[in-house]
Amino acid sequence: MNLSTIVRVFVLAGAFILGGVLLNQILVAAILAVLSCVLMMALHLRRHNKFKSWISHPLTPPANDLGEYYPTAKRMHTSIEASRNRSRSLVNAAQKYKSIANNLPDALVILNDRMTIESVNRSATALLGLTPKDVGKSIATLIRHPDAQALFKSENESMMWADIPSPVSSETRLELRLFRVSEQETMLMARDVSDMSRLLAVRQDFIANVSHELRTPLTVLIGYIESLHSDELDRRTLLEVVQRLDAPAQRMKSLVEDLLTLTRLESSPAPDLSSLSNIDGQSLISAIIEEVQPFASTSHRITVDASTDVVVRGVHVELYSAFLNLVSNALRYSPDGGEVAIKWYRHDGSARFSVQDEGVGIEPQFLPRITERFYRVDPASSRVTGGTGLGLAIVKHVLKRHQSSLQVQSKLGQGSTFYCDLPINRIEEENLEHETS
Ligand code: ADP
Repeated sequence: MNLSTIVRVFVLAGAFILGGVLLNQILVAAILAVLSCVLMMALHLRRHNKFKSWISHPLTPPANDLGEYYPTAKRMHTSIEASRNRSRSLVNAAQKYKSIANNLPDALVILNDRMTIESVNRSATALLGLTPKDVGKSIATLIRHPDAQALFKSENESMMWADIPSPVSSETRLELRLFRVSEQETMLMARDVSDMSRLLAVRQDFIANVSHELRTPLTVLIGYIESLHSDELDRRTLLEVVQRLDAPAQRMKSLVEDLLTLTRLESSPAPDLSSLSNIDGQSLISAIIEEVQPFASTSHRITVDASTDVVVRGVHVELYSAFLNLVSNALRYSPDGGEVAIKWYRHDGSARFSVQDEGVGIEPQFLPRITERFYRVDPASSRVTGGTGLGLAIVKHVLKRHQSSLQVQSKLGQGSTFYCDLPINRIEEENLEHETS
């Protein structure tokens, strides 16, 4: 019972006794005083019990009939609600950050001051093979690559990264980064940089290939130029040397031209409608024959079988360059007397361009690589015939830009057929039909 209740009981009892004295009814007043005290105490006891039972469920709002206990109960309830809200929002925030961490494409590992794992996100499992079961283990015992070990021991803040193969798959390259968040916590992040590493390797390969391709004709050119410094050169020898400069110079020119074509094809977006024109295969093939004829051996037999009514839409200059490459390859890799058959016809609803030769042919294991830049089955014979090693790479890109792909059938020593199917321009064909009917 609190002080105010006791005071109230005494005041009431005192009032009754005072009234009794004044009215000369002391006994009645005393009985009334006792009765009222008992009543008040019973009422108080009831509220006290209610308060006790409420206190075991303080999350429900307190009832108004708690009397003098009500303000205390209300204050308790408000403060419990506030702290519940606070912890609820803390839990929400923790869950939000956990979900963000779990959805990160990069691996995230939180380590303590002893480099022991405190938490891992989902990508840490995919990239580093770490699972929540590894919490409490030392990171150095789980990622054992020497560069990673050096990183974990490193005190040098500016050298906090390493490039290692993923412990899960050696095909995947990872960039590890370590961030000291505080005295107690360090964050380890791992990013999949396989694509970037591959690109870097391709770029380095490409530079090495281009340098290698240019070095040979350049060395020949320099050799001839040096010989021109001699004072004893007569006019005939001089002319001979100058003529010999032509082949390596042409070779370098072809290489640079093919490189530029390839770069343009790779970097420009798919051709838009305005750059497309109707392409009649028969005329395209005639122009190509005219261009290659002077270079073809007199004993090569070139035959053409081209439908006049098969029209496609495409970029003329690109398809011309792709078909020219295929025809000139057929001639270059065919012995004298070999037949090169060029066809343009309707096949399964598409326009098919094919070049068949009776040349050296290609072994099946080399076929998947022949459209790679600078890949040659026989580098010596390719160079002798003036090949840059870029022709089929150009063909591949042109066809890709025309929703097509290069197909090859070949047998070693028996010849090859290179062909592709292009989507037919039906509207133009219908127009042609109307015009002719
Ligand atoms: P290259 O300039 O060396 O001819 P390409 O990219 O045009 O380069 O061809 C790549 C390689 O594919 C050639 O080096 C050659 O080995 C092979 N190849 C291409 N066309 C033929 C063909 N018609 N017959 C045999 N081999 C071919």
